[in-house]
Amino acid sequence: MAKSMVKCSICKKKIEHTFLNKLLGTVVKDERGKQHPVCQDCQRGKSKEELLSAIKG
Ligand SMILES: [Zn+2]
Repeated sequence: MAKSMVKCSICKKKIEHTFLNKLLGTVVKDERGKQHPVCQDCQRGKSKEELLSAIKG
């Protein structure tokens, strides 16, 4: 069974899933409601606001 591939919005690396098919990372929503997956490495130690500014570059 093929899982859809999810890439981190910040580092563009593939985000792995747990055996429960949960993303190893988080998903942040921007002000327009668009969802951006973020891997654990990029998420670490950052607030949602910091993640969003990193996604926008
Ligand atoms: Zn990342």
